[in-house]
Amino acid sequence: MSTSSVSDHDVRILPGERVIHVPAGENVLAAALSAGINLPHSCKSGHCASCRARLIAGQIEYPRGLPIGLTPAEAAAGAILLCQARALTDLVIEARRVRSVEQAEIKTLPARIARLERVGTDVMRLMLRLPAVEPLDFQPGQYLDVLLEDGRRRSFSIASPPHDRDLIELHVRLSPGGGFSEWLFTAAKVGELLKIEGPIGQFVYQESDRPKLLVAGGTGFAPIKSILRHVLEKRLPEMRGAAQRLDFFWGARTAADLYELPLVIAWSARDPELTVTPVLSDTAAAAVDLPRHLRGLVHEAVLASGRELARYDIYAAGPPAMIEAIRTDFPRAGALSDRLFFDSFDYAPR
Ligand SMILES: Cc1cc2nc3c(=O)[nH]c(=O)nc-3n(C[C@H](O)[C@H](O)[C@H](O)COP(=O)(O)OP(=O)(O)OC[C@H]3O[C@@H](n4cnc5c(N)ncnc54)[C@H](O)[C@@H]3O)c2cc1C
Repeated sequence: MSTSSVSDHDVRILPGERVIHVPAGENVLAAALSAGINLPHSCKSGHCASCRARLIAGQIEYPRGLPIGLTPAEAAAGAILLCQARALTDLVIEARRVRSVEQAEIKTLPARIARLERVGTDVMRLMLRLPAVEPLDFQPGQYLDVLLEDGRRRSFSIASPPHDRDLIELHVRLSPGGGFSEWLFTAAKVGELLKIEGPIGQFVYQESDRPKLLVAGGTGFAPIKSILRHVLEKRLPEMRGAAQRLDFFWGARTAADLYELPLVIAWSARDPELTVTPVLSDTAAAAVDLPRHLRGLVHEAVLASGRELARYDIYAAGPPAMIEAIRTDFPRAGALSDRLFFDSFDYAPR
């Protein structure tokens, strides 16, 4: 074991006996993922706090200062965010683990573009075909990384459910100037090969006897679609009932940005346990054809709906600002922190 601050260090991860090697300058989360340990995480930029762990022994530093997702009091009590923490000494940490996710193998695979469909104003539905002998063993809600030629990566949630083994579906929003999405919207062709790595992430649907509240902002619909299809298409008849309610709120700027709303409305017409509430943040936008929708920010619409949040398992995916608002406002309104699951769609680190 090494002890100097400028060199590599070893990190023991509790519970369990795994020790990983963290190269100098790398954050602890990245080293764990490289070692095949799928620790909880989402945004990788210190905002969402999904990778929160407890420092049992050793010293860390945050080269860019205390991350936004951690208060000074939490840091003083020993909480650390693994996506930002660099080891100054060998460490012992206690991390949250989701066993089923941890056991899945993270694979690097070639993926051929099978279909490209523009949906909504600035979203591309990208269908990928994986090698027939190498299926991706993922859970509803997880994401994958597209590996770019310059060594960088871009994260996208898987919108298809695990039981649909034919194609992997992604919903990619156009980010002006974006290294990957601009290429996808302007130059990508059916038949081209990408390289992907996955499955990743601990934002996964967990069976329970509680109703589910699902909140999406924009393409945050992607992992929610995987969850909805998983529940609606795989649910056993005896699992139906009030406890299995699925209340889905989908927020976007305009009606055109709710790119698959007719599909979800059709599901809810067939399955009375699913309700869908569209929420438009552009309060001036026309919404002539949009049935019973609300105006404002989606998390505020959920709060104003009067739902008793303490009864629900809550899954929220979308832009960091939405996730941050939910992370602070929902527990104050009664949501239980351990039943609140986030997927924060942060930009890839520069
Ligand atoms: C777990 C996870 C799941 C995700 N799932 C999806 C998904 O399903 N669908 C989806 O559309 N997106 C998703 N995202 C977000 C997506 O990965 C990023 O938006 C990604 O950076 C887009 O790549 P790009 O190459 O198109 O754009 P980038 O090259 O990454 O950048 C896009 C534009 O934003 C600017 N930019 C970069 N960083 C910042 C910043 N910090 N603040 C403001 N502007 C910035 C750049 O200059 C550029 O103009 C997810 C992110 C995470 C972490």
